[in-house]
Amino acid sequence: MRCTPEALAAALQDLDRRALRRYRELATPQSGSFCSNDYLGLARDPRLAAALADCAQRDGTGAGASHLISGHGTEHEALEQELAEFTGRERALVFSTGYMANLGVVTALAERDDLVLEDRLNHASLIDAGLLARTRRLQRYAHADADAAAVALDAQSAAAPHAATLLVTDGVFSMDGDLAPLPALATHTQRHRAWLIVDDAHGIGVLGRHGGGLCEHFALGAREVPVLIGTFGKALGTFGAFVAGDAVLIEWLIQSARTYRYTTALPPAIAAATRCALRIAREESWRRDALAELIAHFRAGAHARGLPLAPSPTPIQPLILGSTVSALEASARLHSLGYRIPAIRPPTVPEGEARLRITLSATHTVTDIDGLLEALERAVHERR
Ligand SMILES: *Cc1c(COP(=O)(O)O)cnc(C)c1O
Repeated sequence: MRCTPEALAAALQDLDRRALRRYRELATPQSGSFCSNDYLGLARDPRLAAALADCAQRDGTGAGASHLISGHGTEHEALEQELAEFTGRERALVFSTGYMANLGVVTALAERDDLVLEDRLNHASLIDAGLLARTRRLQRYAHADADAAAVALDAQSAAAPHAATLLVTDGVFSMDGDLAPLPALATHTQRHRAWLIVDDAHGIGVLGRHGGGLCEHFALGAREVPVLIGTFGKALGTFGAFVAGDAVLIEWLIQSARTYRYTTALPPAIAAATRCALRIAREESWRRDALAELIAHFRAGAHARGLPLAPSPTPIQPLILGSTVSALEASARLHSLGYRIPAIRPPTVPEGEARLRITLSATHTVTDIDGLLEALERAVHERR
């Protein structure tokens, strides 16, 4: 396609024809109620807002420069130390977004002959990271299939014994809610001296007794998972991301991750609010207990109503409807019943697996869930 305005207009029409055009709707406080990633209900916690406002009054609204110039302040420094302690890693490094953390890590570690090995359902930012890396060797393995990953690792060791391999995976898969088989993946990567890079954007705060995420859930440390990425925009209710690992890894990222070096540091007030969120996420474990109860209640109710729920132990509960049109129709019916749950369509998910992605939050009640179940039953079954 030549990028003329006419070609763009035709491409947009083509999206319309295939029911794939996306529209933005103005969010209202209620509208995100079953589709936001605010799993612990912290995004509207007044304590975070107070921490943010206090810091903004004191330190201003912007960092003013990148971390390596003059943007690295005491709030960033304290947050990094608290994240290192929280994750049980030597050091942590704050990035402006999860997207940038993923691009930065993979491009800083992958050399020309190295292999970047990714789960087929990895988040788009991890796929883009592999495409942007200096290596031209990006390979994908079957979803959550540690044996398939092992076959690819064996082949790489035989073909290029001196090259490195980066095995890159979501921790909790963002559109499916299922878990990466980290213990098995870690066994294989340790045997091959490969890097295991885990993006736990949806696990941090949610899984593990203290909210340490999938690594805490499986009791895996820096030896097993040397590169751990987490984000602040989901369960922690703010904005930004971090990478945690050994001191030498973090020092290398500071020297070479371009998405770290060449961008303005996170506003210090966001770092302050995130410190507050981290403390609450660790201490208020009732939020995780409440989530677990709501997830069980929702799954039992969906099962009783014959709703086609995918197996997921996390607050991400996908209802797989198949065609793009079925998912859009169900979403529209839900909208008319007062629920905003967007249809997730290709290319975000594979062809034929369009779905409603329902997300639960610790601040929902059992009554909220019952109302949702009733609406889902009407939206999905009456459609036929
Ligand atoms: C949301 C998400 C990201 C991107 O994080 P942002 O901070 O929103 O840029 C990266 N990876 C996964 C798995 C995500 O779900």
